[in-house]
Amino acid sequence: MKASKNLIAAFLALIIVFISAALYENGIITDELYLKLISSVKSELVLEANDVEVHFIDVGQAESILIKTPEKAVLIDSGEIGCENAVTNYLHSNGIFHIDLFIITHPHSDHIGSAEEILSRFPVTEVAMPEIPEEYLPTTSLYEDFLIAVKKKKCTVSFIEAGSSFSLGDGIAFDILSPSGDMGDNLNNYSVVSKLSYGEVSFLFTGDIEKEVEKLLLSSKADISCDVYNAGHHGSSTSNTESFLAAANPKYAAISCGANNDYGHPHRETISLFKKLEIKYFRTDYDGNIVFGTDGENISVITSK
Ligand SMILES: [Zn+2]
Repeated sequence: MKASKNLIAAFLALIIVFISAALYENGIITDELYLKLISSVKSELVLEANDVEVHFIDVGQAESILIKTPEKAVLIDSGEIGCENAVTNYLHSNGIFHIDLFIITHPHSDHIGSAEEILSRFPVTEVAMPEIPEEYLPTTSLYEDFLIAVKKKKCTVSFIEAGSSFSLGDGIAFDILSPSGDMGDNLNNYSVVSKLSYGEVSFLFTGDIEKEVEKLLLSSKADISCDVYNAGHHGSSTSNTESFLAAANPKYAAISCGANNDYGHPHRETISLFKKLEIKYFRTDYDGNIVFGTDGENISVITSK
C-alpha cells in the first residue's frame, strides 16, 4: 500500500513539474513562481544524498555536460544551435528544472549554440564565462544574441579564470584552472578548464583547449590529475598531448563527438594515446549519453547505447 502511495506521489510530482515547466517556457509564470512550484515537489526527484553524477549529453558534434550534486545542478555548455530540445528534455528527465551554474566554456556555436534558448527555458542563478580581450571577441549574431539574453535574464554573471572556485555542496569542490589572461587569438584556448573533486574522485573538463594551453597548465603545475577526463576539443589531435594525458592520468575519458563528423573527431592519434595509456574511453557517437556516478570513492559508468 505504501509503495503504491509513493508511486502516486511521484507521478503527481512529475505532472506538476511538467505543467510548471510548460507554463514557464511559455512565459505564463515567473521565475519566482516556477521555482516555488518545483521546489515543493523537487525532493521526489533528486538523487540520493552524497552522490555526484556527471552526464556527457549526446548532442552530436558539439558539447553539453551536466553535473548533478545533491544540492546543485551545473550545465557546462549548451550544444549547437538546434540542441535546445535535446538538452531541455535530458535535463527534465533527470529532474533538473533549475540551473544553479551555467558555464560557457568559450563562444563557439558548438558550445553556445543553444545557450539563449536554455536561458529562456530554465531559471538560472549564475552564468559564468571566460573574459576574452575585446579584439578577439566574436561579432557573430549568435554571440551577441546570447549576451542580450544573459542581460535580460538578470542572473549573476561572472567572468572566471584560473583560481576561481565554486562549492557545489558539502565536500564537493569545483575549481577553475584556466584561462588566465590573454591567451592569444585562438578562442578555443580561452575555454574554461575546470576540475570537480568529491572525496577521492575527480573529473577534469577541458572544453576545446589546444596544445598551447595544455603546455601552460603543465608548466603552471596546476593539479590536472583526474579519474575522468573530458577529452579536449572533441578528441582532436590539436589537443590531448601525451604529456598532458600522462600528467592527468585518468582511468576514463569521455569524448563528445558526432557520428561521421566533418572533422574526423576523435582523431586516430588521440585514440591511440588512450589505448597506449590504458585509458578506457567512451564516445557520444557510439555510446550515446555517458553518465558517471560516484560516492566519492567508487565510480560507475552507464551509457544509453
Ligand atoms: Zn567544440
